[in-house]
Amino acid sequence: MVPLASAHHHGEHFEGEKVFRVSVGDENDVKLIHELASTNQIDFWKPDSVTQIKPHSSVDFRVKAEDTVTVEDFLDQNELQHEVLIHNLRNVLEAQFDSQVRATGHSYEKYNKWETIEAWIEQVTADNPELISRQTIGTTFEGRTMHLLKVGKAGSDKPAIFMDCGFHAREWISPAFCQWFVREAVRTYGQEIHMTELLDKLDFYVLPVVNIDGYVYTWTKNRMWRKTRSTQSGTSCVGTDPNRNFDAGWCEIGASRSPCDETYCGSAAESEKETKALADFIRSNLSSIKAYLTIHSYSQMMLYPYSYDYKLPANNVELNALAKATVKELASLHGTKYTYGPGATTIYPAAGGSDDWAYDQGIKYSFTFELRDKGRYGFALPESQIRATCEETLLAIKHIASYVLEHLY
Ligand SMILES: [Zn+2]
Repeated sequence: MVPLASAHHHGEHFEGEKVFRVSVGDENDVKLIHELASTNQIDFWKPDSVTQIKPHSSVDFRVKAEDTVTVEDFLDQNELQHEVLIHNLRNVLEAQFDSQVRATGHSYEKYNKWETIEAWIEQVTADNPELISRQTIGTTFEGRTMHLLKVGKAGSDKPAIFMDCGFHAREWISPAFCQWFVREAVRTYGQEIHMTELLDKLDFYVLPVVNIDGYVYTWTKNRMWRKTRSTQSGTSCVGTDPNRNFDAGWCEIGASRSPCDETYCGSAAESEKETKALADFIRSNLSSIKAYLTIHSYSQMMLYPYSYDYKLPANNVELNALAKATVKELASLHGTKYTYGPGATTIYPAAGGSDDWAYDQGIKYSFTFELRDKGRYGFALPESQIRATCEETLLAIKHIASYVLEHLY
């Protein structure tokens, strides 16, 4: 493999950093983790913030090199059961770029930087005029264009499925999946009976990267960035969590009002240009959009509403059955096991998420996917896993699409 200059660039900030997994027992353990987080620089990977830690769960977090000894001692002294998932994040980040594909430009089996994805959007649209059209739905805080692809055979009054990737900047496998999906759609249309039927009868709106500014920042400055890159007066902290920024129980639970936090909900619902653009598009196309799918990582989960409340959605039984069948289909290819259920109980309560918002707009089939893995690499999933991850996820998306076609409303 030819080492990329950027690969080294990513690693350099993370030399000696570790990722720990702690098994949390009772409430006292939860308190201890709060104490630890208040005295050390800790980046929570799962759950998203210290406030979301529940008793009898596991917690993954990244620790700065200079704090690793203190943290390890603290865990030992308090008899908190733990393991080290990543011993040196620098090495694991460099090992992400392990694809054997030699392409210097765009590749479906590599992580592509934004300018490469943007050029690909233009190319794949130009190459497939019968199946793909492109529109702009807005611009980001830093002025980048938000392109939306419409994938499907031309027809009138077609139902549609909206799918987005790249809400959280560091979840690189997510944009990789949206690109893979579009490629498989055009590659197998007219060849494979299932995809052909789907594209004949449905349109897929695909938003390849929601949080483009954040994604660019993960390539240029900080691989572990999560939020948008918006600034506001009164604070030097940057960014809002786009998946806490929707008008669905906004900032009531599992989100922070502090601009410095990773789960900052923003100054108001839809304060971010990116979430506003996405919401505006869906509002304008509500009559055709029958399903909303949002792709995140990691932890291998398929979630449905609600996350902002413990209440269950009206079609809970149906969503549960659909999720069960979908994860079974996903597992059929490589044996990858997913858990599923309503967000609040399956992971943790979190308000302002796009899936809850879309559901409350009347979109009955609304799901969040948390792709591979379960923590071995976390956000640093190697490129060599892109193919298998995308193949199995594609089966899941096709399964949902078929179900939606059979249950139009
Ligand atoms: Zn995410």
